[in-house]
Amino acid sequence: MVYFGDVKPIKGKIHIKKDRCKGCAFCVEYCPKDVLEMSEEFNVKGYHPPFVKDEDACVYCQLCESICPEFAIFVTIKEEEEEGEKGESRP
Ligand code: SF4
Ligand code: SF4
Repeated sequence: MVYFGDVKPIKGKIHIKKDRCKGCAFCVEYCPKDVLEMSEEFNVKGYHPPFVKDEDACVYCQLCESICPEFAIFVTIKEEEEEGEKGESRP
């Protein structure tokens, strides 16, 4: 039987194509977990792209990806190995 406490939340890995970004900050404003923040750097178009402030907080809701008008950000599922977790050892 699987108990609710055994269900692991899905974590997201965020990818930002900085040079596509127009600096609208929609992704930053609408992220429900406050994962992103606008950077001080400029991209090739002269806009400030976002950066990932707290990737561990990302819940893979993909709202940032859906809302970005420039297709400049997308999210993939973070694999357990990437998080440094080890599988349960069984006899
Ligand atoms: S997938 Fe959701 S939680 Fe993760 S950065 Fe995008 S909006 Fe935030
Ligand atoms: S929503 Fe897209 S274009 Fe707007 S700041 Fe975020 S990545 Fe850049």
